[in-house]
Amino acid sequence: MRLDVAGVSVSLDGRPIVHEADLRVDDREFVALVGPNGCGKSTLLRTIYRALRPSAGLISVDGDDVHRLPWRESARRTAVVAQETPAELDFTVWEVVLMGRTPYGRDAAADEERCARALDRVGLAGAEDRVYATLSGGEKQRALIARALVQETRLLLLDEPTSNLDVRHQLEILHLARELGVATLAVLHDLNQAAAFCDRLYVMSSGRIVAGGPPGEVLTPELISQVYGVRAVRRTQLVFERLKDESEP
Ligand code: ADP
Ligand code: MG
Repeated sequence: MRLDVAGVSVSLDGRPIVHEADLRVDDREFVALVGPNGCGKSTLLRTIYRALRPSAGLISVDGDDVHRLPWRESARRTAVVAQETPAELDFTVWEVVLMGRTPYGRDAAADEERCARALDRVGLAGAEDRVYATLSGGEKQRALIARALVQETRLLLLDEPTSNLDVRHQLEILHLARELGVATLAVLHDLNQAAAFCDRLYVMSSGRIVAGGPPGEVLTPELISQVYGVRAVRRTQLVFERLKDESEP
């Protein structure tokens, strides 16, 4: 699996939002995309999962232009947990997860097993009959990750998967995503977390990818002050980690 974004520009309502973005995600890599609010991260992600079309450039998954693939085929390659999911989905958890099988033919018995396995993996076993809208923020994210899992893709796109979660649930979701072993491109808000979880990261600013590489090389005080307009100071600080015996998926 390999995602290649080459020279991609995107306009919305005639306004250029993303300018000539280049990035790649290799098999099993966990890559973060960071940048200030409104810089175009979600727009780029939406273009990768075909909710938007680029005005220029090429996005390919495993060498094929995603915008030319049959819809089913691209849905078999790329799963997404989007930033704004309809919070009030009037479906049960089971129904939400089963939606991940849409790009495939139905096979009731096998699908049942897949969904059960996915729910187990995200720590939601037993919650299948709950109404999605009544779940907590962290549980909703888990259900959406389970949906992505049953889609059986080798590329996963996450758009701020930890927003609205407390620190423990943030860590749980990030560990879960990492441990899936699927190539992942994740828009993350927290730079320290991004640095802790990703293999590589890209920094976006005003619609352009301005840096990319291992977090230790990219996240310099100079770059952070350029992009975010704040001074970055290294200090001893509290570092949050999961407790060992915490219930884990
Ligand atoms: P980010 O995810 O980095 O916060 P977005 O990609 O959501 O940024 O937005 C980038 C820019 O595009 C913002 O200026 C936003 O106002 C604008 N934008 C987002 N969605 C639309 C839309 N549907 N129509 C017009 N402009 C939009
Ligand atoms: Mg966004």
